[in-house]
Amino acid sequence: MLFDLQLRQTVGLGYLVSTAKHSRALIVNQNGERIVYNVDFDWKPLYIPEAELSKIETELDKKPALRRPIYTVEEIGGDKFLCQVCNVVFDCIGSITAKFPDGPTYFALSSSEVPAALIAKFGGFQCIVVSHSAVRLCHDFAKIVFQDDDLIQFVISGRDVEDRFEPITRTRKEAVSAILSKGREDTDRACEWADLLASLASYFIVAHEIGHLACDHFSDRDSLSIVENDNVAGDMAVARRADEWQADSFAVIATLYQHIRIMEGESRPRDTRFPDRLSAYRFSLILAYIIFTVMDLENSGDIDYSKNSHPAPLARAGLTAVSLMQSSLYTTTIDQPQALELARLAFKAIEICIGRAGGGMLTAEEIERYGGEAEESLMAFCKQLDHISDKRDLLRWSHLSWTEYLFPKIAQD
Ligand SMILES: [Zn+2]
Repeated sequence: MLFDLQLRQTVGLGYLVSTAKHSRALIVNQNGERIVYNVDFDWKPLYIPEAELSKIETELDKKPALRRPIYTVEEIGGDKFLCQVCNVVFDCIGSITAKFPDGPTYFALSSSEVPAALIAKFGGFQCIVVSHSAVRLCHDFAKIVFQDDDLIQFVISGRDVEDRFEPITRTRKEAVSAILSKGREDTDRACEWADLLASLASYFIVAHEIGHLACDHFSDRDSLSIVENDNVAGDMAVARRADEWQADSFAVIATLYQHIRIMEGESRPRDTRFPDRLSAYRFSLILAYIIFTVMDLENSGDIDYSKNSHPAPLARAGLTAVSLMQSSLYTTTIDQPQALELARLAFKAIEICIGRAGGGMLTAEEIERYGGEAEESLMAFCKQLDHISDKRDLLRWSHLSWTEYLFPKIAQD
């Protein structure tokens, strides 16, 4: 029996309906036949159909980072990690794109070793592509840094992480590579944290791509796709970077809501690691910072971030913290100054843990520079998004209650 049926998504075949507990889904095809899927194992209805594959492959050919082959359904079926990623992606697309009018949103996993993601919009459907390495690297990174009990204590109780580490001998980039180098031992406890982090990282990355769609970022572009870490031409830089910030804002709030939903009753047994919503909020900040660090991995040490669609990880995380703050009163009951202080403590906590595990971290000069950059960008982005908001249709997504916390407000009028 299916209880509490909710319409989630129109797919090619008919309507996808899932239970409030996300445990099963129902497809009603054009003949009115009801087909029940177990959502935990049946992500396939949203995996790019064979008939549409060549369209996405042609688009990927133009994107060096994602050019490698797309995994087949059979290949994914034989890999537990990839299956888990697909379950989360399916859930994310299914729960966010409800009522979306532009046809189904499919997804595909790329076998590229570059951490990357893309959304492409074709006539009649969309497709999100994520490289398996984007999620795998988040997992590998988390299972080393979460061996540090201070990081776990920070998430659980908010305890400040002490400035205590061995002398720094590497740059931050070298430290991140050292953390990700193979052959490091892990612990069961750290792996449990890494599993959760990887799962929410998949959710975040996909929600970011949906954010581009939700915020109508295709309306003033000629291209069929938006790819992460793209180069941007000078006069378009602010506009493109503002869009990326809006997509990050969409993703971080969507992911926090998903985490709260999991914590507060939709999953059994309950995840007892998180005593309250504030701990989930702290985890969101750590999660975003780790994702941005990993997604930045391909950039060389001397990259000019002003020519990239995303700023440096710390600046990007700082900007995301501002968006998260917009929702803090509702999601956690803390006020905005407290939310910003929490972001400062979270970024400090993860930087110190990177320093301890990898022997390198941001210098005081870099922290100053990226912090200043985030502050300056914020004003420019708000102006840009405000300027363009009448040209974009943002109301299609106003059924998602949390979009009102997007900054500048997505459902203003
Ligand atoms: Zn993006």
